[in-house]
Amino acid sequence: MAESVCCIVCGASSATPLFSQVPDYFLPTGIRVDYARCNACGLVQQIPLPTDVGPFYAGYPVHARKAWLHEVMRRVVMRPVYYDLATLNKDQVLLDYGCGDGWFLRDAAPHVSAAYGFEPTAAQSEDVSRRVSTTVFHDLAAMQAVLAGRVDVVTMHFVMEHLTDLRGTLRVISGLLKPGGVLRAVVPNLENVEFRWFGSRWHGFDAPRHICFPNPQQLAPILEEVGLSLQRDGYVPFPNTMAASLCIALTGRYRPMPFLFFLPLALIWARLYPRGNRAFVLQKL
Ligand SMILES: [Zn+2]
Repeated sequence: MAESVCCIVCGASSATPLFSQVPDYFLPTGIRVDYARCNACGLVQQIPLPTDVGPFYAGYPVHARKAWLHEVMRRVVMRPVYYDLATLNKDQVLLDYGCGDGWFLRDAAPHVSAAYGFEPTAAQSEDVSRRVSTTVFHDLAAMQAVLAGRVDVVTMHFVMEHLTDLRGTLRVISGLLKPGGVLRAVVPNLENVEFRWFGSRWHGFDAPRHICFPNPQQLAPILEEVGLSLQRDGYVPFPNTMAASLCIALTGRYRPMPFLFFLPLALIWARLYPRGNRAFVLQKL
């Protein structure tokens, strides 16, 4: 790890290089980045930490509206990854932090008393807010003014790995939760045979957008600082990762048609070996 860079979780400055000059296999950004593994806590992190992640997201399809076929597939393929709507109730306030194009927020809203979203850019938050007919914040202070101590459930689906300020974000979220409220996070899991097979071509790695890959054990120092405790930890099946990884390994980059070709095989694989993503629940003390 470069001298000036510290592990964003434990602060250690000693790390072992893992990959250098990893290209963007998903979008044609042309950006290449390096990663290292912290020698103290084992966190894999991008080095140096980017100061502006904006260029990583030029044309990022996760933020765009989807065709109806994609919507159908998303409900079939991705539903098990997302928060179980049947466990929500009408007394609860929900925040989907990093709500993307807002599809989960839209589905969750009828199940709770109030549903809010967060997206870090003004344009995206305003667009989703209009489409989903609910408040989507982009300003942390504005969100804190409305939601401090009010939220029962925060969801972060594939968000933590994108954060450059993990500690600050978890502190904000802890401040929004009621005592006993929960944060459920889904994060790509590097302790997994798929990552060993594909390395930096594993789609869950997704350089340069993925900054770090924390598991709940590595997060322990931050959780203690911000008053969150680990309640549940497990795995969720997500076939898209394997399908995209096969596509990248065999064709050199992500392409939609080979991805769709590999998806049925990846669906079976994800059911047999659902280790591609960690899903964990943190509770506000
Ligand atoms: Zn560390």
